[in-house]
Amino acid sequence: MSRMNQENLKRFDTLLRAHLNEALPEFKGLLSSMMDGELLQGPMDEADLASARYERELALQIHYRNHRLVQEIRGALRRIENGVYGICLECGQEIGLDRLKAQPMTAVCVDCKKALEKL
Ligand SMILES: [Zn+2]
Repeated sequence: MSRMNQENLKRFDTLLRAHLNEALPEFKGLLSSMMDGELLQGPMDEADLASARYERELALQIHYRNHRLVQEIRGALRRIENGVYGICLECGQEIGLDRLKAQPMTAVCVDCKKALEKL
């Protein structure tokens, strides 16, 4: 069993921080544009109202997805700090470098992921 070496950890750390830097401004930008949306003034007809509602719905969906992404990235960075990155949270086995390269934020191995999806 080969432990994640420092060089790999450093690489994932850099990668995850880059992801976070990408996700955060979008996250904050959306929040403030949603706040602006609250201040919509003037009388609106049904169509305006419907499209405003639709846009808000869409913004919320993107916001939630982005929020989850930010949480996942932060979680992964925390696992690097705690020295448990690359170890499955469910079974304690190595997640494997190939899977981590494809999904750096993942916290569970392939087998556990499949098991969780069946729930
Ligand atoms: Zn597992």
